[in-house]
Amino acid sequence: MAKRTVTLIPGDGIGLETSAAMQRVVEASGAAIAWEVAEAGAHTMENCGTPLPDSTIEAVKRNGVAIKGPITTPVGTGFRSVNVALRRALGLYVCLRPVLSLPGAGGRYDDVDMVIVRENSEDLYAGIEFEEGSQAARDLIRFCEETGAGAIRPDSGISVKPISVTATRDIVEYAFDYAAKHGRTKVTAVHKANIMKHSDGLFLRVAREVAEERAASIGFDDRIVDAFCMNMVVDPSQFDVVVFPNLYGDIASDLAAGLVGGLGIAPGANIGKRYAVFEAVHGSAPDIAGQDKANPTAQILSAAMMLDHVGERVAAERIRRAVRAVYADGKYLTADIRKATRSSERAARCSEFTAALEEALEQMD
Ligand code: NAD
Repeated sequence: MAKRTVTLIPGDGIGLETSAAMQRVVEASGAAIAWEVAEAGAHTMENCGTPLPDSTIEAVKRNGVAIKGPITTPVGTGFRSVNVALRRALGLYVCLRPVLSLPGAGGRYDDVDMVIVRENSEDLYAGIEFEEGSQAARDLIRFCEETGAGAIRPDSGISVKPISVTATRDIVEYAFDYAAKHGRTKVTAVHKANIMKHSDGLFLRVAREVAEERAASIGFDDRIVDAFCMNMVVDPSQFDVVVFPNLYGDIASDLAAGLVGGLGIAPGANIGKRYAVFEAVHGSAPDIAGQDKANPTAQILSAAMMLDHVGERVAAERIRRAVRAVYADGKYLTADIRKATRSSERAARCSEFTAALEEALEQMD
């Protein structure tokens, strides 16, 4: 059987370990996948003069599908986020993050099954910022004063939050399409429309318009983001498909991951009209990088999503079954899960956990 080529961007930090683990598990699943490795990240600067070479973007465009490890974004330097740049270059307007209880992973609930659909292209991630004291910041402050828009302290840095009708329509339509395709019954839109009337207010208005246009078989409601957070922590089972503007979706993803066992098990995907890049919710975890301590489950479950996407559904389901079996068995769990389950048993290394998954796959019918 011809192998399907997928671009692999290993990333940096724990990405190097979780990507290697993911490759081993995909191999053991029997999926017919060939990898084309492409580089991105701070270390790529030295060889290519850029953290995101054109050749990497071309590789994703050529293959249509990629899986990537996390990439470090140094804080407060001129180095912009490679992740944001990649999403922009490939038109990946959807960030999809399923949140599912995994028995044995130490989650607070055993009945979570919700899907976070996060807008990926605008909001405060647009990268439109004015440094405190700069001419542009001073001009903007004067403009706000002169037009009566409001007073801004002269020593302010300013980030702009654009939310458009176009991008909101795209993301809410995606959420409804996803719900219809996957037999889900409700879409919830999350916002802060009571305070930000022209950005979040627009998001809510357009979400309601899309809901009106869609089949009545899929319900719709909305929540203010702070109330949503409280409601999700108290009873996450009430949510099904939840659609967010970029920033709230980012924060809520980590919060939701925490409810089911933590960042170590939370998979995700960035999806556009032509390309898809699969990646875990977590970052490069510099505190544990290079120590064989990382939990590769999130990237392995992201690979299962990738396999579904390319039509390798049997291999994807085998991987998910193997993950459930290793967590249910409980002998080889990484340190983050031992901590979440308050277990005093020795934590498995990333490589030991991966070997347990390979064995579970080998023993499967
Ligand atoms: P992080 O997700 O890297 O780590 C947060 C905490 O969770 C750390 O204590 C870490 O050890 C733990 N953790 C995360 N993933 C884990 C795993 N698989 N197994 C075990 N423990 C895990 O978040 P951070 O520290 O805020 O970010 C570190 C860097 O990663 C930053 O530069 C950030 O910009 C970047 N980042 C990249 C991506 C991406 O590439 N998609 C996403 C988020 C953050």
